[in-house]
Amino acid sequence: MILAAWQLGRMIARLVVQEVLCERAHAPSDPQECPQCGTPLVSKGLLPRQLTTLLGVIRWKRRALRCPQGCSIGQVTPLDKALGVESHQETSVELKQMACALAVFVPFETAVVLLKRISGVCVSPVAIWGWVQTIGKQAMERLDNEVKKLAESQTPEPEPMDAATAAKPLLVGADGVMVPFRPEKGSPKGRTIWREVKVAILARLNRYTARSGEETARLERRRLVAVLGDIDTLSPRLWLEALRQGVVTASIVVWISDGGRGFWRLFGEWFAGSAIAILDFYHAAQNLWKAASACLDGRTRCARDWFAKVRHQLRHGKENAVLAELKTTLDLNTLPPAAHHTLQKVYDYLLKHSSHINYEKFKELGLPLGSGMVESACKWLIQQRFKGVGMRWSEDGFNYLLHLRLAWVNDRFDALFLPETSPNV
Ligand SMILES: [Zn+2]
Repeated sequence: MILAAWQLGRMIARLVVQEVLCERAHAPSDPQECPQCGTPLVSKGLLPRQLTTLLGVIRWKRRALRCPQGCSIGQVTPLDKALGVESHQETSVELKQMACALAVFVPFETAVVLLKRISGVCVSPVAIWGWVQTIGKQAMERLDNEVKKLAESQTPEPEPMDAATAAKPLLVGADGVMVPFRPEKGSPKGRTIWREVKVAILARLNRYTARSGEETARLERRRLVAVLGDIDTLSPRLWLEALRQGVVTASIVVWISDGGRGFWRLFGEWFAGSAIAILDFYHAAQNLWKAASACLDGRTRCARDWFAKVRHQLRHGKENAVLAELKTTLDLNTLPPAAHHTLQKVYDYLLKHSSHINYEKFKELGLPLGSGMVESACKWLIQQRFKGVGMRWSEDGFNYLLHLRLAWVNDRFDALFLPETSPNV
């Protein structure tokens, strides 16, 4: 009964819209002149028009005008213009918007099925794919344009934010995720090529006491930045978003990352002057385990005990003691060359990050010690949609959908569907 009523509701809504359009088509309108010769245009009568919308196919008739002098201006349809309907448009904006929103989360074929269920409207996967390409491309171009402006020293407007949110620490982190690509354009043949997508997250850290009495943290106002490209391509995009998220005025900025792949270079480039930086605790501990197993090779029990001790020290504010112990062992020079080399690398690494491993202090400040929250957000952006069974992407196809997904998580999706000059009534 509910579904039948729903269908009836859609039908009535369609009739209402058609009725309103008919009324507007018949309403007297201002006389118009030919843009070429200035002669007043004359009516060709009421001509039919139709549009597929979220309510189904809507049909109406509206007045079409032409130049009596025969200028080649085509037919002029003031009502279409007032409605924001383009001359060759077959689908209404809100239907495209709904279809793209579905495609942000599910494969195109599934989006077709869901859209049919929601609206009763049948569109093809190719149509939805096409809308994603068009709108996603626009989103990408908008962003590229903003990056270009930033390079010309035009800083973006910070996003409006209430005082309570603005007072919270701004957390920044970055990571990489692999995505499967097709080796050749337009062909499903050949072996999958895996390429790394660089992802950064910016969020406000909200600390609160849970019902269990435990102090808990949650990320709010998550904003993601992602790019199929290298660190240098990510860099200006990250800074653009950081400026939007109030990095300049934030009371505390926290950079958190695991060890690898050039992401600390981004920290050095943009945040080193003002931010607290945290090396992911699990990553630091992993390095200590590497040292333990190399130096105490074959003595598993011994290695485990030593690792437990230094890990505890590292976690509880004795990072200097850990460094000193590593240094002493190195100076004794009694290890086999391979083990010595491993230990030296671990020592150098931790020494380089010695101001990023004050975990006791970070804990006191209520900051997270691990980059888990960052990693899960980054994985969500990519994993959930781009790494389904058998999925392989073309560079454009990936980029356009990625930018739609970014717009969605960053709360900028609806803006993509607003016309530049909004005639919507
Ligand atoms: Zn004319």
